Amino acid sequence: DIFPGDLSGNTVQRNTPKVLFATVKPAGFDGPKLIAFNQALAEETGLGRYEDKDLDFLVGNNLPDNVKTYATAYAGHQFGNWAGQLGDGRAIIAGEIINKDGKKTEIQWKGAGATPYSRHADGRAVLRSSVREYLMSEAMYHLGVPTTRALSLAFTGEDVVRDMMYNGNPQLEKGAVVIRTAESFLRFGHFELLSAQREYNTLEDLADFTIENYYPEITTDGIQKYKDFFEKICTRTADLMTEWFRVGFVHGVMNTDNMSVLGLTIDYGPYSMMDEYDLNFTPNTTDLPGRRYAFGQQGQISQWNLWQLANALHPLIKDEKFLEDTLNQYGTYFWEAHDKVLCRKFGFEELLESDEEFFTNWQGLMQELQFDYTLFFNQLEKLNSDSDLKTLFENASYVGLNDERLKKLGDFAKKHEARLTLNTISKEESSALMNRSNPKFTLRNYLLYECIEEISMGKTEMLEKLTRALENPYQELYPEFSAKRPSAYDDTTGCSTL
Ligand code: AMP
Ligand code: MG
Ligand code: MG
Repeated sequence: DIFPGDLSGNTVQRNTPKVLFATVKPAGFDGPKLIAFNQALAEETGLGRYEDKDLDFLVGNNLPDNVKTYATAYAGHQFGNWAGQLGDGRAIIAGEIINKDGKKTEIQWKGAGATPYSRHADGRAVLRSSVREYLMSEAMYHLGVPTTRALSLAFTGEDVVRDMMYNGNPQLEKGAVVIRTAESFLRFGHFELLSAQREYNTLEDLADFTIENYYPEITTDGIQKYKDFFEKICTRTADLMTEWFRVGFVHGVMNTDNMSVLGLTIDYGPYSMMDEYDLNFTPNTTDLPGRRYAFGQQGQISQWNLWQLANALHPLIKDEKFLEDTLNQYGTYFWEAHDKVLCRKFGFEELLESDEEFFTNWQGLMQELQFDYTLFFNQLEKLNSDSDLKTLFENASYVGLNDERLKKLGDFAKKHEARLTLNTISKEESSALMNRSNPKFTLRNYLLYECIEEISMGKTEMLEKLTRALENPYQELYPEFSAKRPSAYDDTTGCSTL
């Protein structure tokens, strides 16, 4: 009863009750070339050491007969509208590996060829998008943010046609495949699809499967089990959103098909780390002028997405009041978690009532003085009674610091110092708290941009250097990376959907 699929390029409606996937093989590529391999992850997952002969596997070539590869069907709400059936359009699942500790990891190729869910697209990925996924997912992992991971990056040897947003002319770009891994790639959209097609038995099976494998802490039965499941997805999602806030990550396409039911960051497309603090910042040029997925919207949007998941799970839970209450509590929980994160970034051990005013004041300062989000906190950490404010903060601001602005910063610094005296933890503990809450290295969009340029010219020095930096984000390994975005790159903060 496996859906055979149709690679003609037409949308194929899933027509197989009980089955949520289609078997499909990677396209196969003639001239693969390795760009990067993540040895630490390979060992962790139980894949072992890389050898030259493994290159074919990295792009999906010459698979052994016993490997049954497949793509999954899901649905989703895109930019606030029901989009119907979608699915893995350029991801193919190789399978699952179990390491010596019994930990399971799913492995998939991204960009290895079309699937029955590719609609009119080609199932390929270009170098640009693959480098972005490879580096940022690992950067997020080392920052301590829940995420899918990346095992390898390889050229396919094939050119791919892409319509560049800015000139409308189709251009050839080099194709590249990433292997990515996760405990599971299940999305809100998988549940939405089954619910929309009224396959409630399969919906229940999928929920049971997900709980059994990924939420073993749930031990209740019947309806209560699905209630616990929904609550835990809410908590994990809120925690993820506060982590994105902590490090200044903007996803860019928070459609429900890009929301993990495990609370992982998933599908790295037109994302960006935020340089200058701006609640309205969206890197996704196709999200203008609505800015639905802007930095300051991610909390609310995740709640909206959870509403869609609540609708999808309703046939199992059948209790509107419970779902509504849980979603309302989500808002409260999210803002509390958000404020706690902000406290940690400032070195405060716990939230006080007066902090709301302090935070509002800080937001005003950030906007007016156009401070870089990362550098502001790094410099605040270095601030002591002998520091010269201008020297310390001049290079963290995108507008520069005149006397008037310096005075505002000085007033704020005094408030911060006074607030620190309300801590019961020591000054050292407070510094340590700031230190582990504020990244020193952030993988800025312009660095990715430069790195991609280099790789396309056959060089990998920057890739290697960025890899070391992102593996140690709470240390300052390279002073040149602890700087704001150079003005020459002011218009490289946006990306179209890749
Ligand atoms: P996204 O918003 O980028 O996560 O993608 C939305 C949908 O489009 C998903 O179902 C993807 O699998 C599909 N998609 C995106 N790019 C491609 C591509 N190059 N080929 C096939 N499907 C794609
Ligand atoms: Mg996606
Ligand atoms: Mg995508």
